[in-house]
Amino acid sequence: MAHSKYEEVTPATQRVGPLRGVYIHIPFCKTLCPYCDFVKVRAHTGVPSEYCVALCTEIVTSADGSRIGSIFFGGGTPSLLLPQDLEQILNTLAQHFRLEAPEITLEANPDDVTRERVRIWQDVGINRISLGVQSFDDTTLRYLGRRHDASRARYACEWVAEVFASWNLDLIYGAPPVNAYEHTLAEVIQLRPPHVSAYALSYEPETPFYSRRHEAISEDESLRLYQMTEAALSDYTHYEISNFALPGYACRHNLIYWRNEEYFGFGTGAFGYLAGVRMRNTPSVQEYLRQPGKKSEQLSLDPLEIKVETLIQHFRLREGIAKDYYQRRFGTSIEADFGEVLDDLERRGLVTASETHYRPTPEGFYLNNEIGLALVEKLTRGDTNTR
Ligand code: SF4
Repeated sequence: MAHSKYEEVTPATQRVGPLRGVYIHIPFCKTLCPYCDFVKVRAHTGVPSEYCVALCTEIVTSADGSRIGSIFFGGGTPSLLLPQDLEQILNTLAQHFRLEAPEITLEANPDDVTRERVRIWQDVGINRISLGVQSFDDTTLRYLGRRHDASRARYACEWVAEVFASWNLDLIYGAPPVNAYEHTLAEVIQLRPPHVSAYALSYEPETPFYSRRHEAISEDESLRLYQMTEAALSDYTHYEISNFALPGYACRHNLIYWRNEEYFGFGTGAFGYLAGVRMRNTPSVQEYLRQPGKKSEQLSLDPLEIKVETLIQHFRLREGIAKDYYQRRFGTSIEADFGEVLDDLERRGLVTASETHYRPTPEGFYLNNEIGLALVEKLTRGDTNTR
């Protein structure tokens, strides 16, 4: 395995801490999948170079020399970026931030993966690939409107695994033919990617799939497929509701979101969270090109909102939340702020308390929304030694 320009993310180098993340949104796709509700536009000819110029302008004007532990190129389809543009964006980040052995993830469409490109991605500094496989069944892939087929996805996995120690395989379950999912899981086990994300297909408003929502499977069936995933990946750590990792390969970038820690968001429609302010860039590519970094939303959260969001996010994680982490971060004890709600969640069997942690129970993991609702209720009641 050749060496990346940046440090390879392995169990030995993986670390977490107060480093900030950087999310970079590349909103261009060659074809549009009918279930997708991300910010994206169709682009037959790849990512326009003016978009990369705008991204670099936004990076330079927002940079404050922060220490960065992860960079994530998401989309859209970041694998459409030209290598020189990818390198330019990474160089700009390196010049204006302090990169501390960052995990650098590139989301890739299997259709864009070639042996040569995988090597190029590594050469420019990418050290983790997230591969949008979704299924190893051609009928399912056609239903989802994906541009790759199963054979292409198999090659893409093989080529990525030849070069990268750290990579993720994305799955979608619940698309017809539902039974094909079992075979897909069997192939995943054979491949043994270090990280797997598995999400239920949803039929979101404002997507072409919304008109087909009657085809959605029942909640019971969805739970059955979720549990099938858990059973198939039983030797992985099921560290977040929809994410599984071999030891040391949890996604450092997504852990920033799930711990409600801070990150910059660059590009069209990108979200950021810094110093208690949640912000979003304009979702219009044209507007972004005219004014890189223009915000369409900016919301200052008050202390109680930040605490509630932090707990909600942490309860997506198997590790839950450590009492001393809460104390260090907020300067008060978690019991003083949320004792009553947590006791109630414990009585309902959704949360369990130990001397050091509050964690979701297996039931709390499945019924994560219930935990969220109880915490939001505290927010709406405005209880408030925390304000
Ligand atoms: S699922 Fe991915 S490839 Fe498909 S339209 Fe959405 S962002 Fe583009």
